[in-house]
Amino acid sequence: MKAEIIAVGTELLMGQIANTNAQYLSRELAAIGIGVYYHTTVGDNPGRLKEAIAIARERADVIVFTGGLGPTQDDLTKDVIADVLGLRLVTHQPSLDKIEELFRSRGVAMVESNARQAALIEGGTPLPNDTGLAVGELLEAGGCCFVILPGPPKEMKPMFDRYAKPLLLAKLPGEPLHSRMLKFAGIGESSLEHRLIDLISAQRDPTIAPYASEGEVTIRLTTRAATPELAASKLDPVEAEIRSRLGEHLYANREAAIEEIVAELLKTRGETVAAAESCTGGLFASLLTDVPGSSAVFAGGVVCYTNAVKREMLGVPGRLLEGDGAPGAVSRETAASLAAGVRERLGSDWGVSVTGVAGPAEVEGKPVGLVYVGIAGPDGGGPEVWELKLSGNRETIKLRAAKSMLYRLWR
Ligand code: ATP
Ligand code: MG
Repeated sequence: MKAEIIAVGTELLMGQIANTNAQYLSRELAAIGIGVYYHTTVGDNPGRLKEAIAIARERADVIVFTGGLGPTQDDLTKDVIADVLGLRLVTHQPSLDKIEELFRSRGVAMVESNARQAALIEGGTPLPNDTGLAVGELLEAGGCCFVILPGPPKEMKPMFDRYAKPLLLAKLPGEPLHSRMLKFAGIGESSLEHRLIDLISAQRDPTIAPYASEGEVTIRLTTRAATPELAASKLDPVEAEIRSRLGEHLYANREAAIEEIVAELLKTRGETVAAAESCTGGLFASLLTDVPGSSAVFAGGVVCYTNAVKREMLGVPGRLLEGDGAPGAVSRETAASLAAGVRERLGSDWGVSVTGVAGPAEVEGKPVGLVYVGIAGPDGGGPEVWELKLSGNRETIKLRAAKSMLYRLWR
């Protein structure tokens, strides 16, 4: 089955936003065995959208649209597809009820154009929008399968995962696909690939697909099998082999961020953590508090950006920070002192610290990407410190440093 993605939106052509929807959908479709052969991007223009649809119908069995389902005049994806196919638009009553209810509850009058978000091309299957208003649709017509999704990623992704993907899977011949996610931290995508290269090059069944995002690396194992048990019997040995090579980095075998796993771990042990963050500016605290229920495990944190705060709030000795021969703020010694200081002052079981150079310029003559992560634990021994050499821009270095703190806590 061949697929084409048509992303609709002038802002994509203008370079105002990146087409992350096409990237996401390509990856997801490939994982269920549907190859994407073309990406098309077209502006909010009915004539050019019609042309794009005509071309796609010649060369694809599945056309996935994103964007242009909103209430405004330039949101015309459904109208144009209906027009091309000679089909009518009808109202999807549950969606209209939901839109009306939302306006009622806000005490705002609903304008007519909002009803457009409840429109369906006749004959299709509605795809509910759990995180927004515009209903999506899967429609088989004119020898093609049209999948119509909204533009905002936070609406598009759940609609695709929960509703479109199962319908597409049901259309595929053969046994159903089963996937397992292996999640890694403390290792980059290229070194991970390097250590699995023989498995990756020889892969057939299960398939092994690594990818990196948001400071973590994921491997998706996929196989076809009649039942989940049979799938497990094929996935387990591959997972075991990967675990034997990379067990110290493999923190979960399901879709979960490292902060969730760390929060679970601390909760199970009944322990708490406090953070002293310099170069991450509070990102560790932000990630950990994204996890519901983290108040049970996160005591709090100090964003100790200046030397004065490191000294006065966390008790780092001045001789470590400044003066002739001082190791400086970005050093093993300071990381250790920060971890011990925050643990003691916030009364937590664990103290975690980070100090480093996020860039773009050097600090204390130290290179961009040099980061120290410290951990002081309940066992009373001296804090442990790790030196990292991270690459990337300021934002990436901050994220990687915060993820490293989580990784070290997990370890
Ligand atoms: P809305 O109801 O918000 O108008 P829509 O379905 O009409 O949604 P668009 O108007 O095309 O979608 O896009 C809305 C927003 O969604 C864009 O401003 C952009 O932030 C995001 N978006 C749209 N298309 C993409 C894409 N291909 N990749 C990533 N983000 C996108
Ligand atoms: Mg719109």
